[in-house]
Amino acid sequence: MQPKPELGHMDVDAQDIALVGGLLAGSRRDLAKAITLVESTRAEHRARAGKLLDALLPHTGRSMRIGISGVPGVGKSTFIEALGMSLIESGHRVAVLAVDPSSTVHGGSILGDKTRMELLSQRTEAFIRPSPSSGSLGGVAEHTREALLLCEAAGYDIIIVETVGVGQSETAVAGMTDAFVLLMLPNAGDDLQAIKKGIMELADLVVFNKADIDPTAAQLAAAQMRSALSMLHPASANWQPPVLTLSAIRKDGLVEFWHVIEKLRRTLDASGEFAAKRRHQALAWMWQQIDAGLRGRFRENPAVKTALAEISVSVESGATTPAAAAQRLLALASRTF
Ligand code: GDP
Repeated sequence: MQPKPELGHMDVDAQDIALVGGLLAGSRRDLAKAITLVESTRAEHRARAGKLLDALLPHTGRSMRIGISGVPGVGKSTFIEALGMSLIESGHRVAVLAVDPSSTVHGGSILGDKTRMELLSQRTEAFIRPSPSSGSLGGVAEHTREALLLCEAAGYDIIIVETVGVGQSETAVAGMTDAFVLLMLPNAGDDLQAIKKGIMELADLVVFNKADIDPTAAQLAAAQMRSALSMLHPASANWQPPVLTLSAIRKDGLVEFWHVIEKLRRTLDASGEFAAKRRHQALAWMWQQIDAGLRGRFRENPAVKTALAEISVSVESGATTPAAAAQRLLALASRTF
């Protein structure tokens, strides 16, 4: 008999009771099924997913959520596999999720390659889920956020959310994690790119990987990065983002990396910033959902649908200003909202 799940204020569909029980008992199969449900765009599935998430909410929140970003080839999967294996050895359960905006363009996910993290994926204490490949970037990130909560309810105490170095996806991942890690290569020039794109400001920790190839170059890159970071305004008065060098392939520097993550957690817990960040993220998520919902209702509004083509043409031809056109369309929509 499965233990009776302790449910939130909204009961799940009868067909999902066993799923909830299995998920709370740590079944990877049920977790995978639940994630598929929350990734579905079908209205009936969305409704079931909403109830499921509501019911599981009391069981979420008890993990350390770590975002890891870096361009393809920097060594993310090598690093996550090595880190994940060592965390499992110390008794943790590790889930790895991915946000890959390219998966929405090509339909397949470059982060979803089956051969990645082969050792980790064979461990029962690990759960690896590639990026969902439907919807907009916002949609993908939204599903990953929900998948993260499901992993927590299934007992994973360390959740790693991985993303490629493509602007928006980093912001989305930083917005759902407690610690955001930038993985870089010495000499690649992507440090400059990151500074330009404003990604540096998101980082709680910067790591130069592949330090085994040229340790001196790695140290130099780290020193330059430290001085670049010291000129940025840190997100927290209590935390100046450290810069580390490591070799994922040789498993050098993993222990030091984990010590920094633990120190970050202790520091932000002590100042109250850890909980404040999560509260802020929850509210930001609510507003994103409201924005997306309003936009969807706006686009589906019959009066807007009728007038949109004509008003768009008059904006394109310069006959109407974009501002006036937006006001007209919003006025049309608000009559029936
Ligand atoms: P990802 O695309 O960011 O996930 O990168 P991968 O983990 O697939 O690594 C890309 C390539 O770099 C692979 O051939 C890895 O074996 C190699 N690699 C990863 N980490 C290191 C490292 O620390 N040192 C060296 N020399 N090679 C590494």
